[in-house]
Amino acid sequence: MKPRLLTPGPTPAPEETLLELARPVTFHRSSQFRAVIKEVSEDLQYVFCTKQPVLTITASGTGAMEAAIANTVPPGGKAICLVSGRWGERWRNICKAFGVTVVEVKVPYGESVAPAALAAALKEHPDAAIVTSTLSETATGCRNDIKGFAEITRASEALLIVDGISGLGVMECRMDDWGIDVVVTGSQKALMLPPGLAFIGLSQRAWKRVDSLYQGPSAPKAFYFDIRKYRDNLAGNDTPFTPANTLVRALRLSLKRLRDEGIENCWKRYSRMARAARAAAAPLRLELYAKDPADGLTVYKVPEAVDGVAILGALEKDHGIRVAGGQDVLKGKIIRLAHMGYIDYFEVLAAVSALELTLPKFGHPVEPGAAVAACQRAYAGGA
Ligand SMILES: *Cc1c(COP(=O)(O)O)cnc(C)c1O
Repeated sequence: MKPRLLTPGPTPAPEETLLELARPVTFHRSSQFRAVIKEVSEDLQYVFCTKQPVLTITASGTGAMEAAIANTVPPGGKAICLVSGRWGERWRNICKAFGVTVVEVKVPYGESVAPAALAAALKEHPDAAIVTSTLSETATGCRNDIKGFAEITRASEALLIVDGISGLGVMECRMDDWGIDVVVTGSQKALMLPPGLAFIGLSQRAWKRVDSLYQGPSAPKAFYFDIRKYRDNLAGNDTPFTPANTLVRALRLSLKRLRDEGIENCWKRYSRMARAARAAAAPLRLELYAKDPADGLTVYKVPEAVDGVAILGALEKDHGIRVAGGQDVLKGKIIRLAHMGYIDYFEVLAAVSALELTLPKFGHPVEPGAAVAACQRAYAGGA
């Protein structure tokens, strides 16, 4: 059977990227590798829609999240955490680990945070140093209005920090134009690379904060995650520690792909795939979990009477289709189908057709072909 990976991270990587990973290990302090760093760093700026340096850290995405908090807010400082799911909760938990006072703005799972809720929180807490948010809440499949958040934070002292881990490269997110202060992402979702790299970009305003914090009485407690080191080394196309250089070499190829297509075309392509995946819900007799769905994944609600964990097992065992279920309290209750990175429409179609074959075996009859037809219609109708 042919295995197909359709989880919202890790995602599959293109052939040329995988082939690069099979090549010999090389030394990282060399002019050749500095040229790679330069090229990758420019392509990352393109993906982040920023002129500011984008730093590459050897870590999973959470490493960049931790770096964002550790470097921008002192212990005892205040964070407004916009929480619409597990990944918004991760920001909150990192803040707590660093002794940051958390003001939580929380919505029920499946919903997005309204910019008005942020405006109200900032009014009540004008001393907030940062606002944390999630572009695509991968736990529930919802999108958040980052542009709307940025309009509010831009007019305040608070820095807007965005977790773009499953959204950047998939959905419009313009760091400079929108006035976002910090964007982080990871390698294994939309950037078409295996896990292992984290990325962080900061606005000039955010860098001012970082530099002044290090000069003040409550300097950040960071060594590996002291992001000034990454910035200063990057100026000479170098890295402060041994980088995962084989991954960086492979990243060059994945980013070329993204650059050749054009970021705006990527956004359109994912949006079209997302429309198709959402159109499958009604004929599958499944509800969409997210009220305002993100474009990198589609989350279907599993009916009460159906065993969601068993469905995932059957999809993989019978059809080689690996999709993700829910985490924590959502375990067994949702199916998360990814369409980000190197996943194409025909794989989404394969997953939908596998669902058509599988759901009836779990007491949830569906009309064969109806969901596939709905996908096709939605996809054909799209631009
Ligand atoms: C996957 C994901 C993370 C976690 O990233 P790791 O690479 O596992 O540390 C954080 N936020 C979002 C939105 C994600 O999708």
